[in-house]
Order: sequence, then structure tokens, then C-alpha cells
Amino acid sequence: MTCYDVALLESVSRQHEKELTVSVVLEKVLPGSSTISDIAERIYAGERITSADALRLYHHPDLLEVGALGEFVRRRKAGEGKEKFVYYIHNMHLNPTNFCVETCRFCSYANPGNKAYSWTVEEVLDEARKGAQLGINEIHMVGGLNPICDLNYYEEVMKAIKAEFPHLHLKAMTAVEIEYLANLEGISFEETLKRLVAAGLNSMPGGGAEIFDESVRTKMAVKKTPAHKWLEIHGIAHQMGMKTTATMLTGIGEAVEHKVDHMRLLRDQQDISGGFMCFIPLKCYYEGTTIADEVVEPTADDLLRDIAISRIFLDNFDHIKAYWIQLGVQLAQVALSFGADDLDGTIGEEKITHAAGAKTPLQLAKERMEELISTAGYTPVERDTVYNIRRVSTCAPSIVGALSDRVASLIS
Ligand code: SF4
Repeated sequence: MTCYDVALLESVSRQHEKELTVSVVLEKVLPGSSTISDIAERIYAGERITSADALRLYHHPDLLEVGALGEFVRRRKAGEGKEKFVYYIHNMHLNPTNFCVETCRFCSYANPGNKAYSWTVEEVLDEARKGAQLGINEIHMVGGLNPICDLNYYEEVMKAIKAEFPHLHLKAMTAVEIEYLANLEGISFEETLKRLVAAGLNSMPGGGAEIFDESVRTKMAVKKTPAHKWLEIHGIAHQMGMKTTATMLTGIGEAVEHKVDHMRLLRDQQDISGGFMCFIPLKCYYEGTTIADEVVEPTADDLLRDIAISRIFLDNFDHIKAYWIQLGVQLAQVALSFGADDLDGTIGEEKITHAAGAKTPLQLAKERMEELISTAGYTPVERDTVYNIRRVSTCAPSIVGALSDRVASLIS
């Protein structure tokens, strides 16, 4: 089924058609009798919710009520005429090396069992050429902490990419990689970032935040970049005028309190430096790790709550991403009705989550991205890295079945 025949093949209810053709009027979405109606009233009034409120939302028995609040906030934040917009980007992932000096227990990508590789500058460029031929507009580049791939190497890689493809936006280097390169070189985070920006770095991804709580990190043998350093590096990048994103990894032994604390630290940092573009909840995959028996795998209910509650709690973040590579395409579609407004990108070839057993496709064509968004009831919007709109799709938004039925099928 292509995105062009969706409108013909599916029966769209009159109410839904009306919703699609007129601006959505934001009405209260929860019954006054709900046990979270006091939180809802504060959300309707535009007030910031507290960590205690977020914890109550995590424990609230009615997932759909929490999701309805997430969707309400998403629509209000989107603004007049953009209530149904869901963003995606035509991009590729580049992972120049999977060798890593760290041994985070949840990581399969740099697992010693995987054959280690380090690409030369020319090999990275060859990969970039493949993406450029497909018309991508962003390269998302992250890798392991590898002494062979030092600051000079990344400067050369970025200069080479920019020399051949000056139009491509280079989103690269997590805070973890910045810390590692700075230490390797014996220079400050700021100096490291300045050199990379001079070489072509445009923005930074939000990986490596994991869960900020130290007790969880200790159990998972995470020795890299503690919370204060991760936040400091992003703060420096923001001060330099760079945009970044932020992530949270779940399924590594965290409690809901740790998730709320993680988001509070991000919200506080955003109040100070203001450069986070979006928040991306991530889930751990366990293939190739030894942690599956000691942690609880997040359920679909957990993952949808992360989307909805982050949308509500992170009132100073413009976008929440449903990362389809990890959620799977069906759950990512449902997440759009829980507050997410971004499906990430076409990807090219993803290595990190697939090394840990993700069964999602390696990449999606632009047409398929648009089909996923429109059949979930939203308007596909192709964006650039910093959320400038490149094109609003003509695919008609549609709805396949009631949202509650789709949620039930996913969490049963
Ligand atoms: S999560 Fe990152 S820092 Fe940790 S082992 Fe994997 S690649 Fe290295």
C-alpha cells in the first residue's frame, strides 16, 4: 500500500476527517473524575509539572489517560496549523569504529565478541558517498572510544566529508566521545569542540547519557562521562551556538525514580543553556550482553509512558522522538499519539542497535517513512537536522483502527 492510496482504501470517520481539516481545538482530554485530574488541570493551565507529578503519571493505572495528556501537550507545543505534523529526516548513520576502551555491560556494539573494525578516512568517505548518492541531507556519525581514532583522525574525516559534500549537515560525536578525545589530547572540552567545529562539525547527538543515576551506572560498569560532565559538555556546545539532542536509555536496571531524575537534570540544563532540540527515549537490547537475567525489559506500556511523560515533563524541549529503529515501526507509530512528533530518519544502515539484536529494518525509504506517519493519522514533514521544514508531504493522514485497539494489541 503506498501513501497515495491510503485515503481511498481506508474508511476515515467523519469526526476524524473534521479534525484533519480544521485546526484542532485544544479541549480538556481527561474526565474530571480521573485521579490525575489535578495534574491535568495544571497541564491545561500551562504550568510545569513536578518530579512528584511525573512519578504519579508513571504509576497511574490508565495508560491511555497519560497518553492523552502527552498528545495534548504535543499539539499545543506544535502550534496553530502544525498540530498533526510529524517530522522525519533523510539521513544516514556512519559508525567509523566499533572498538572501544570501555566495557559498558549493556553494549553489544563494542562487545569483545564482535570483530573490531576501524575505517580509514577514505573508507568513511566511501560510505558517505553512498548516502550522498541517495540524496541524504544529514550524516549522523558516532563510534567507540578508540585510540587510533583520535582528534586528528576525526578532524580529517570531517574535513574530507565537508570538502566533498559541503551541503551535508554533520551531526557527530557524543559527549562521551568529546570527553575521550579531550583527555587523549590533554585539552579542554571547549578546545576539542572548537577544533571539531572548525573541521566541519555542525551539531551533536545525545547518546551516551544512558541513565544518569550513579547506582545504575555502577552496576552496568559505566565508567565514562558521569552526569555532570555529560551536561557540562552539552552546555559548552550550546554556548558555542551548537544544537544537540538528549537521550535516556532504559532497560538497564533503572527505577522510575531514576528516569524522572534523569529528565529533571535535562530540564534544568535546558533552562540554563537552551540548545537541546529533542529528547529521545531509548531501550536496551540484550543480545550479546550478560545482563538480560538481572534487569527488567521495558514493556510497550513502559515505552509509551516514557514518550508521554517526557513530552509533558520536558516543557522546554520542542520535540520528542519515537526512534523507530528501537521501538519497532508499529510501536513508533502508536507513540505518535502519545506525544512524539518525530520518527527520526531513514538511517541508511544502523549498526549499534542491530548489533544487540534489534529486528527492525536497517533502513527505510522516504516513501515508507511517509506512509508510516500518514497511516498513523499524521502529516509527514521532511525536516533538516535543526527542524527547518524542507517539505510538507501531500500524503493524506489516515487512521487504521482505533488507537485504543492498537495499543491493546501491542501491550497484551
Ligand atoms: S556504550 Fe559506548 S562507551 Fe560503552 S562500551 Fe559501548 S561504545 Fe564504548
